[in-house]
Amino acid sequence: MLIEGRTTLTQFLIETRRKHPGSTGDLNALITDVSLACKAIAGKVSFGALAGVLGSAGTGNVQGEEQKTLDVLSNEIFLRANEWGGNVAGMVSEEMEEPYRLPRQYPRGKYLLLFDPLDGSSNIDVNVSVGSIFSVLRAPTPGADPADEDFLQPGTEQVCAGYAIYGPSTMLVLTLGTGTHAFTLDPNLGEWILSHPNLSVPRQTREFAINASNSRFWEPAVKRYVDECMAGKSGARDADFNMRWIASLVAETHRILMRGGVFLYPRDNKDPARPGRLRLLYEANPISFLVEQAGGVASTGRHRLMETKPESLHQRIGFVFGSADEVERIETYHGEQLMDDSYRSPLFGQRGLFAVV
Ligand code: MN
Ligand code: MN
Repeated sequence: MLIEGRTTLTQFLIETRRKHPGSTGDLNALITDVSLACKAIAGKVSFGALAGVLGSAGTGNVQGEEQKTLDVLSNEIFLRANEWGGNVAGMVSEEMEEPYRLPRQYPRGKYLLLFDPLDGSSNIDVNVSVGSIFSVLRAPTPGADPADEDFLQPGTEQVCAGYAIYGPSTMLVLTLGTGTHAFTLDPNLGEWILSHPNLSVPRQTREFAINASNSRFWEPAVKRYVDECMAGKSGARDADFNMRWIASLVAETHRILMRGGVFLYPRDNKDPARPGRLRLLYEANPISFLVEQAGGVASTGRHRLMETKPESLHQRIGFVFGSADEVERIETYHGEQLMDDSYRSPLFGQRGLFAVV
């Protein structure tokens, strides 16, 4: 063993594969290529202003958001690292309107790769943690260019998901459907070392994360939940809560995987054309897979997020995840809100003649 008592990502992947006789190793090769892209992005991020990569690229992405230089660069790194190996049949990215078609000379593989090359990029210029998020699906037609619809599989179909976080240390957090495991990059070896096997999100928490500046747009169920947390010991929950907000999905997810908590970016009525803020394919599905594999719950606020059938590549969705007790409570509040909505008539209201109990 190279490093006494330590497991490298390579060793972890090979040992995991041995438990699945008949697997070809293509998935391992794909994960290795993704992890190389993440190392390359970590390098760019760590040099910051010295690499001349901060600031705006002067363009917008498909959602009309400002693209940072590093968004564009990270997207290129992901494409170059994964297009040549014969492991993927196609790729889609938050930064590209259409699926990426592999150059002619490369073989088409068995998998589809979906990614957000740089999540939280608005934090780049202030030196706060950012990350990369990815999701792997099976290509319905291996060996051929995929159709757009091939990417529209529910999150339950993912074979692998993960993210890299570029923080004080660089980490890779991964699931292949057998638990969620975190690796720390050893900068001297340039190798990922398994540092946090079998992450476990505690069922209970007293920490929640939400962008409170949107409170006037929230649905009643979310307002009720947050009001109760804020009321602390004097309120219905009879407990004091802490609030966190980093505005970087990867950083919020990482905190919750390490010590529990609940995160909400719920559906609201800020922009009726956009029910939710986060992207289903590049953000919510992979994070949900990681959270569930660590024993947490991932929801739209109403039901299990990964059962959502995607309708379009850049679809957005309301997202609530983390410690099981809190997410289930929020789902319950949405259920009760639904009853209130459907029995608006005073006769059927909570205090009405036909009160729903
Ligand atoms: Mn993002
Ligand atoms: Mn992004």
